[in-house]
Amino acid sequence: MSERCIYCGMEIEGKGIAKEIDGDKIKFCSRHCSVMFDGLEKKGRMKAVIMAERNAIIKDLEEERGTKVITMIHRREPWEETDENQINIEDTEHVLMRIRQTSEDVDLILHTPGGFVLASEMIAMAVKNHPAKVTVIIPFYAMSGGTLIALAADEIIMEKDSVLGPVDPQIGGMPAGALISLPEKKPVETISDDYIMLSEEAKKSLIRVQKMVMWLLEDKMNKGKAEKLAEFLTGGYMTHDTPIIFDVAKSFGLNVKQGVPGKVYDLFRTFEFGACSRPQSAKY
Ligand SMILES: [Zn+2]
Repeated sequence: MSERCIYCGMEIEGKGIAKEIDGDKIKFCSRHCSVMFDGLEKKGRMKAVIMAERNAIIKDLEEERGTKVITMIHRREPWEETDENQINIEDTEHVLMRIRQTSEDVDLILHTPGGFVLASEMIAMAVKNHPAKVTVIIPFYAMSGGTLIALAADEIIMEKDSVLGPVDPQIGGMPAGALISLPEKKPVETISDDYIMLSEEAKKSLIRVQKMVMWLLEDKMNKGKAEKLAEFLTGGYMTHDTPIIFDVAKSFGLNVKQGVPGKVYDLFRTFEFGACSRPQSAKY
């Protein structure tokens, strides 16, 4: 691999521009990049270097796979104090924009414990509606809303022990299935108004997610199979953090393959590990 500029990630043509910054001799592609980098604060420099490294890895991966690579990775950024660990609306806009900007095949690298229902649904719709092939790559886990997005893809690449999870909605941190069955378990006058309303809300939410999963699966398997799988994944038959590994996903009839490209792991080396909450606290 040829040398790349640490500010913009572009390949350095010829000798480039060498500049001494804080005692280190650093090479840039242009005077512009050297000046921009020199003007950054310490954390800004850290971010610039890491982003340039990521862009270089993504470019290599795109060349290797002949795709457009989009990432949705929920790990702590080394230059940030707070954790970026759920699917939120900013993600939706970022991913939607990137998908809409290309008509090529897309590789979407997913690493998430889940997040807001609406945000996940919007990304899943964009994945399904993309005119070219979309492959979702899951090196470790894509739980809950992440699984919903994976169900929308033409192909899922994971490892033998990467995991997907159930997509039953969580209402106020409680599983929809349990809320729905609450009025069957005790006399209705002993249940608070709040819980009766939550139970109604859970019913609507569950039907909606079930219909969405059916729609995502309709072109991938026959109707009976899709109905059964949608019911299994949304009905609350297992806890929300139950891991669905490769063999199980395959037995569902999903188009899963093994073999996450090595460069995806190179990309993960540029993130902080161990700082974010793990999927056991996943909300849908
Ligand atoms: Zn540059």
